[in-house]
Amino acid sequence: MLNTSAHQKTPRTILVVEDEPDLATAIAQRITANGWTARVAGDGASAVRAASQIKPDLVIMDIMLPVMDGIEATKRIIAERPVPVLMLTARDSEADKVMGLSAGADDYMTKPFSPRELIARCEALLRRVERATLIAKNNENEKVLDFGSLVIDPRQRIVTQDGKQVHLTPTEFDLLATLARKPKSVFKREKLLEEVWDWPDASGTRTVDSHVKALRHKLGSDMIRTAHGVGYAFEPPEDGNAATSPIQQ
Ligand code: CA
Repeated sequence: MLNTSAHQKTPRTILVVEDEPDLATAIAQRITANGWTARVAGDGASAVRAASQIKPDLVIMDIMLPVMDGIEATKRIIAERPVPVLMLTARDSEADKVMGLSAGADDYMTKPFSPRELIARCEALLRRVERATLIAKNNENEKVLDFGSLVIDPRQRIVTQDGKQVHLTPTEFDLLATLARKPKSVFKREKLLEEVWDWPDASGTRTVDSHVKALRHKLGSDMIRTAHGVGYAFEPPEDGNAATSPIQQ
């Protein structure tokens, strides 16, 4: 059953991927002090192996890494098993952020950052994923959203398109499910930030745009409509399309 006690912390394993030993140690110490378990990987390839072995609850991923960069490592980790990723960028570069978010990161922080804020961000991310999972598991009335070629199962957190499972990150799933529960309704970007991210001040509406871009890439560009200057709306696939499509050999 649900354990709502504020005093008992759920055990968490955080994988810290950072090639600067001093910074990796400092982050790991903070995580340990917060009652979680920290594991450190110093390059992208080790991170992919470690994620596969220890199955962390969250990954803190530096972008600039030896052997394999953080973008590629994130893509590979998520392809194997969905996990929330908080990306660390060395520069306050918009290109880095967009690249990181489209690789599947859920949030990002720019170096240098305060360790306290890092932990707060991790907590927000873990809380969000946990809450979404618990809501889905505990709500017997939560129906499968069936749009014909696209089916969204909020309880199992699975999306299938034309019968094939589409691998979405936790954030991509929450964004899609939020939009799809009210098809054709326009959601303001600020509203989406509040409902999906639970982190209204820091991420910025640009984060919403990046995740919409990633969803369109995976599901097709027609699925999410832009209401210019306002936000986004889910457009259910039209049933007529299947009948008029050329037959696949
Ligand atoms: Ca680095």
